[in-house]
Amino acid sequence: MNLEKYKNHLIQNTKKILTNWFESKENERIPQREVYRFLHSIKGTAGTIQLGGLMQVSDRLLSVLDENSETVWELDELRTFLFDLMELTYEYENYEHVTMKSGAIRQSNAQLIQIIDDDVSMLILLKDVLEEKGWMVITNTDPEKAVNQYFEMQPDLLIIDLHLPLKDGFHVLEDIQTHNEKYFIPKLIISIQNDKETRMKAYQSGADDFIGKPIDIEEFIVKIERHLQRKKFFDQSVLIDELTQIYNRRFLEETLPRYFQEYKRSKQAFSISVVDIDFFKQVNDTYGHLMGDKVLTEFAQFIKRSIRSSDFIFRYGGEEFVIIFPGTTNEKAKQRLTELIHTFSKKKFTYKEKSFSVTFSAGLFTVENESVTPEEAFKNADHSLYEAKRLGRARVETSHTSLLLYEKKVVNVSVIDDDIIIRTMLNKIIESIDMGHVELNIAVYENGPSFFKSRRANDGRDHFLIVDGVMPIMDGLEVLQKVKTGPHANQFTVLMLTGRKSEANIAQALKLGADDYVTKPFSMSELQARIERLLKREK
Ligand code: GH3
Ligand code: MG
Ligand code: MG
Repeated sequence: MNLEKYKNHLIQNTKKILTNWFESKENERIPQREVYRFLHSIKGTAGTIQLGGLMQVSDRLLSVLDENSETVWELDELRTFLFDLMELTYEYENYEHVTMKSGAIRQSNAQLIQIIDDDVSMLILLKDVLEEKGWMVITNTDPEKAVNQYFEMQPDLLIIDLHLPLKDGFHVLEDIQTHNEKYFIPKLIISIQNDKETRMKAYQSGADDFIGKPIDIEEFIVKIERHLQRKKFFDQSVLIDELTQIYNRRFLEETLPRYFQEYKRSKQAFSISVVDIDFFKQVNDTYGHLMGDKVLTEFAQFIKRSIRSSDFIFRYGGEEFVIIFPGTTNEKAKQRLTELIHTFSKKKFTYKEKSFSVTFSAGLFTVENESVTPEEAFKNADHSLYEAKRLGRARVETSHTSLLLYEKKVVNVSVIDDDIIIRTMLNKIIESIDMGHVELNIAVYENGPSFFKSRRANDGRDHFLIVDGVMPIMDGLEVLQKVKTGPHANQFTVLMLTGRKSEANIAQALKLGADDYVTKPFSMSELQARIERLLKREK
């Protein structure tokens, strides 16, 4: 007997009910009795048609419900309650056998690999095999965009194809030259041209490895594994930031608790400041990343020279730094920072005869009582930094004790997918992401037109869009194109969900400017990790 038909029927039916609950305008709450009946019927059918997992999950959920209860469920609660059931339904619909991919990415701190290749079949293949191993992969066909993504995402390993349109792999290596020299980031060249001269040139340009096409996948993976191991080892052993030559974040994390211990002993207030360069992205965009690197280096050295020998500056990441002022009151620290901001803003940078200046903003927190933890102190300083940005930049803001009541920056996150299960699960996943001083404003849409009709499509905010490739009415590529040619194109980060087999679609998506893609069926935890990664780079 063919059970396929019944399986589909059950799945479609489940979806219909979920749509009715979560997306019809009338419902705000669902009576528990309805939930009970829903689960009860799934349990019965699933058992009959041999969907054992689904039967077990519905049984487990049922066991905590009372059929005759008068309770009602809030939609959010219900979504959380039904999450496992939805995930499993999704798997039954999309996988022949319900087993998770081995080694799938489960954390957003998986090592990140960037592949730059204009051969889309190759990209897809490599991304697949590498992600299977548990690494996260971002891909680019356009070298220009690749360089930007490189600086934003800071991958742990780079794979570059030599033959790229417009700009060859050597030039891409050149574009990230300062980083090339100063940072330990393994770079692998892949190329169909595999003669000695080409290989020599690749090594001379900074490549760490050279792999000829056709690629032997097994050997390729072993090599990548080795490079990534060494990268990890390196990261764990350095305490100085390679570019700016000041202490790095790892060292900050090791040191910070000591100041708190010292405070308990001495009772001498000390101050922590989080500082961030203003409009730094514009420096990169206008004068190039090389100049951006120079600004970072000079900034770090300027602060280091200007603070007392007992003060410390650390590079926290990107263009964000932390300064610690031991034994310094809030008032004093604020005064010092104000002076630093003032002096630095007078400094002239020159680029091809043009000169420009740069400012920075600072958030300050002073530890004056024993109950504050390092995390709280940092968070407070960081919030104040955000406040300083909001109030016009090139200034210090401070908070003394408790958390400020501050206005969070809002980033729109929209999901456009015709599948209710995916929409609902993504909604829940995104809700669970903690973005610090950024608030995620989430909405889900069943199709492109209803997204574009919404006000938020054009409100000019930073917007993270997850869009399904294949949809009725308006497909994902159309949505992508419309967004990327629209007036707020730069505000959008787009993650495409595409079918595994649709190579042409992936090629098209990348060409139209998609920032990342994930092939269906995907595991939800894997997708969550990617979303977190992409969202956090916006911070
Ligand atoms: P704001 O005033 O709000 O801080 O704006 P911003 O442009 O400074 O901030 P945003 O976070 O939008 O941009 C930071 C940029 O810094 C994005 C990234 O490309 C760039 N960046 C991060 N690390 C490096 C680096 O090591 N070198 C260079 N050149 N750029 C970097
Ligand atoms: Mg900045
Ligand atoms: Mg920043």
